Amino acid sequence: MVLRLSSLFLRTLREDPAEAEVASHKLLLRAGYIRRAAPGIYTWLPLGLRVLRKVEEIIREEMTSIGAQEVHFPALLPKEPYEVTNRWTEYGDGIFRLKDRKGADYLLAPTHEEMFTLLVKDLYGSYKDLPLSIYQIQNKYRDEARPRAGLLRGREFIMKDSYSFDIDDDGLEASYQAHRGAYLRIFERLGLDIVPVAATAGAMGGSKSEEFLHPTAIGEDTFVRSAGGYAANVEAVSTVPPAEIDYSMAPAARVLDTPATPTIATLVQSANTIAPRGSDVWTAADTLKNVVLAVDLPTGERQIVVVGLPGDRAVDLKRIEANIGSYLPMAGEIGVEAANEEDLKKHALLVKGYIGPGLSLDAAVLGSEGASKLLYLVDPRVVSGTSWITGANESGKHVFGLIAGRDFGWDGTIEAVEVRAGDEAPDGSGPLEAARGIEMGHIFQLGRKYAQALDLKVLDRNGKLAVVTMGSYGVGVTRAVAALAESNHDDKGLCWPRSVAPADVHIVAVGRGEEIFAAAQKLADDFEAAGLEVIYDDRPKVSPGVKFSDAELIGVPTILAVGRGLVDGVVEIKDRATGEAENIAVGDAVQYVLSTAGR
Ligand code: ATP
Ligand code: MG
Repeated sequence: MVLRLSSLFLRTLREDPAEAEVASHKLLLRAGYIRRAAPGIYTWLPLGLRVLRKVEEIIREEMTSIGAQEVHFPALLPKEPYEVTNRWTEYGDGIFRLKDRKGADYLLAPTHEEMFTLLVKDLYGSYKDLPLSIYQIQNKYRDEARPRAGLLRGREFIMKDSYSFDIDDDGLEASYQAHRGAYLRIFERLGLDIVPVAATAGAMGGSKSEEFLHPTAIGEDTFVRSAGGYAANVEAVSTVPPAEIDYSMAPAARVLDTPATPTIATLVQSANTIAPRGSDVWTAADTLKNVVLAVDLPTGERQIVVVGLPGDRAVDLKRIEANIGSYLPMAGEIGVEAANEEDLKKHALLVKGYIGPGLSLDAAVLGSEGASKLLYLVDPRVVSGTSWITGANESGKHVFGLIAGRDFGWDGTIEAVEVRAGDEAPDGSGPLEAARGIEMGHIFQLGRKYAQALDLKVLDRNGKLAVVTMGSYGVGVTRAVAALAESNHDDKGLCWPRSVAPADVHIVAVGRGEEIFAAAQKLADDFEAAGLEVIYDDRPKVSPGVKFSDAELIGVPTILAVGRGLVDGVVEIKDRATGEAENIAVGDAVQYVLSTAGR
């Protein structure tokens, strides 16, 4: 059906709406694709819905191509399955919770691992039923702290989520790779530039994980890449540790008075005065900074952890948050922040500004059996034999030449510091540079975590019950619409790639003559008959200027003007993205557009 602008449910806006900051948000509102219903919650109008459906269809086709089958779960779910996996608690304020009339707890699902796991448990019982991949395209609900940029970070949004079920690790790897391939094809077909980056699994648990980032300055995710092809989310970058150093000849450490040196800068200055380094000077990189952190556990408890890092490096709390899980008593959503005065008061041995690792010289404080045993983790650059200037656990004193592995130990290493441009890529592919992106998709090897928790077992080849291994794979569908708008616009409006555009051709009848409207109508019908989708601006009393600016705002790839040229038998056909226009004989117009559309 030709979409006639005289009757289409659409009002374009001349002005940028005050609520919108990024281009895609402004333009989707102005061009009449969406309307805001509440913060982070949007209504889809006819044009927007057409784009959305096309994005969904591309995703469906690629899911079908890897043998995944579509199902559909409710968004309104009972609490119990999420209690079993502890996510009812872990999600904290992040989800919408509600009660029914009997007082039973429900939630609006933020993601569906539990329900898919239970459904498979319900229906399947043998390894012969596997592998299985099932998916849905469905609304998700998350009470995001900062809904932002319209569809980019909504509180209600559409996700395609799939889940794979396999009997063994090889099966999971195959399912994961199939999804990875499908995701690359989806983004390729959408015309969305994507960098797959190594990621940490975070609250999902599990092991292998990659994110599909769309590089853009307005992205909220920072990632790093090297010229040699390495790319990773900063949380997932692993530091190449330096070689260990032989310390057999190193002199003993000594404690020196360093009054009023609670910061790295004051310490470095003092060190160069009281214990000059010879031909060289001490710098912040020679100091070991010990940072006291408080970890808020899923149980509500607060655990104090001390992290040692080179003094020239800044702490990155998000990296610590992503990587500290294996040292904690339980899995789940955690928060890491700098310890406050109250936390410090509970640990009298921590002398603010002068904290050091467990000293062999003195009473052990951190990371070794001692007075107050706190978890002590170090940056991977702290390797055996490295020598440090660090706190002596006494106000106004520091210890010089403290040797890692000789004078102090640690409970483990952690990626704790900010990744800097110029740091080496872990695979040796060169120095890293930082970039920003939007997370468009995320694939995880969940492993057996959910199947174990919800008791999804099937009979294996030997007739024994085996826990199923799972993968989980998400694409932000509504986010993809916004990202496409973001990367395909100019100052006049949207410029959709043909694969998702709300129509192929936007016909504008310019002028008042009846013959113009008759010719435009005929062309619209011919295009439709040829299998192209048409928007036809048949509004009789709207000026050509307004019609053209609406056409540019709406952003269909081909704009066809029927006007003055008609007396010479030609129409003007313009490419929305390049602005190139040509006069084409009326009778050739359909063929011309078909060939530009590659059909
Ligand atoms: P983010 O880090 O951006 O908050 P996430 O890691 O929480 O995303 P996942 O749980 O991995 O998201 O969800 C899968 C996909 O769903 C994401 O890759 C993203 O494309 C999309 N998505 C997640 N949250 C939102 C949201 N609030 N609005 C729109 N799309 C979202
Ligand atoms: Mg994610």
